[in-house]
Amino acid sequence: MNRNQQLFEQAKKIIPGGVNSPVRAFGSVGGVPRFIKKAAGAYVWDEDDVQYIDYVGSWGPAIVGHAHPEVIEAVREAALGGLSFGAPTAAEVQIAEEIAKLVPSVEQVRLVSSGTEATMSAIRLARGFTGRDNIIKFEGCYHGHSDSLLVKAGSGLLTFGNPSSAGVPADFTKHTLVLPYNDVAALQQTFAEIGDSVACVILEPIAGNMNMIQPSAEFIQTLRRLTEQHGAVLIYDEVMTGFRVALGGAQSLHGITPDLTTMGKVIGGGMPLAAFGGRADIMACISPLGGVYQAGTLSGNPVAVAAGLKTLEIIQRPGFYEQLAKHTQMLCHGLNAVAQEAGLPFCSQSVGGMFGLYFADAVPQSYAEMAASNTEHFKQFFHGMLDHQIAFGPSAFEACFMSAAHTPEHIADTIGVAAEVFTQMVRG
Ligand SMILES: *Cc1c(COP(=O)(O)O)cnc(C)c1O
Repeated sequence: MNRNQQLFEQAKKIIPGGVNSPVRAFGSVGGVPRFIKKAAGAYVWDEDDVQYIDYVGSWGPAIVGHAHPEVIEAVREAALGGLSFGAPTAAEVQIAEEIAKLVPSVEQVRLVSSGTEATMSAIRLARGFTGRDNIIKFEGCYHGHSDSLLVKAGSGLLTFGNPSSAGVPADFTKHTLVLPYNDVAALQQTFAEIGDSVACVILEPIAGNMNMIQPSAEFIQTLRRLTEQHGAVLIYDEVMTGFRVALGGAQSLHGITPDLTTMGKVIGGGMPLAAFGGRADIMACISPLGGVYQAGTLSGNPVAVAAGLKTLEIIQRPGFYEQLAKHTQMLCHGLNAVAQEAGLPFCSQSVGGMFGLYFADAVPQSYAEMAASNTEHFKQFFHGMLDHQIAFGPSAFEACFMSAAHTPEHIADTIGVAAEVFTQMVRG
C-alpha cells in the first residue's frame, strides 16, 4: 500500500468516510483520494510526493495560486498579532469597504466564516425583511448545507420541495420551492400564482455546482423584473462566482443589481471567510440594529481577513482577469480540439477563471441536461488525467478552476495529456 492508501484506511476508521467533506472521498469516480501534503502555485503534492497540476484550487479560493508568497506573508504577520479577539478590528472595516467598492450592489456587508453561513443568514434576513416565509431556489444549485436549502424538487411545478438529506424535517423545507434553472415559463407561472408570498429567490448566477451552467439573459432579466414587481428579495449567491468570473462577480457581467449577495471562497484566499451584503435598508434588519439574529465567534477573524485583503489586492492588479480568462479559454479550446480529433463527444466553456468540461455533444443548460451527460466518460477522463499528474475535481458535477499561477506551459501539458487520454478512451 502506498501512503495515500494507508492514510485513507486509517482515516476511514476515525472520520466518517475518511473525509471532512463528502466529494473528497472520490465516491463518484472510485479509487483512493490523494492526501495533500502541500501546495504552491499551480501545483499540489500528495503524501506519496507526486506532484499534480491542480484545477481544483481548493474548489475556487486559490485564484492567485496556492501559497502565494504575499498572502502567506500577510497571514504570518496577522497571526503574530493574535489569532482572534471577538471584538471589531480596523482590517475588517477595510475589507468591508473593499468589497463594497468592487461589488457596488453591496452597500453594507457582514463577514461570516463559511458560504453556508452566508446563504443561511441572507435567507433569514430576506424572510425577516419581507415578513414572508416562502423561498425559491433552482434545481442543481447548491447554497451550502443549511436545512431549508437541502431540498429536491416536488413532483410538480408549484409543489413545495422535500428534504434531499436525511435529518431534515419535511416541515423545514415546506416553504422551499425548487424550479428548473433557465426555465422562464416556470418562473412566470410561479410568480403569477404565489409571487406575493415569496420572501426571496436565491440562485447561483452562473451555476458551478452542477458542473458549470450559464443562465440565459432572458432568465435573469425575468427573474430581476418579477422579484422587483412582487417585492421579493433577489439573492445572488456568488460564493463561487464572486471575484472568480470577473472582478465584480457574475452580477457585473449580467448588468443586474441584486438585493443581496453572498460571497465566500475567493474572498478568504484559502482561509475561512465569507460574507453577505446588499441594500442598506435590508441589512439594517440585522441584529444589533434590527430583529434578525445573526452572530459568530470567529466572524471577521483577523488572520482570515488578512488573507482576504491581500488576495483582493492582488486580483486588482492590471491585466489579472484578462490573463486568467485568456488562459482558461486557451485550455478549453485546446481540449475541444483534441477531443474532436479523437472523435469523442465533448465540449467545454469558460467564464473568467471558471470552466466546465462536459462529455456531451452540447453544453448543458439545466440540471436535467447535465445529468444526461456521459459520467462514465468523465470517470475515465478523471483517472486518466490523475494518473498523468493532472488533478480535476473528482465529480462530473463540479466546475473547474484556473489560477494566475497556471502558465501556457501547464496548459499545453494538460492538453497534451488529454489528447492521449481521449484517444485511449475512444479505443476503449
Ligand atoms: C461552496 C458554495 C457554498 C457553500 O460554501 P461553504 O464555504 O462550503 O459553506 C454556497 N454557495 C455556493 C454557490 C458555493 O459554491
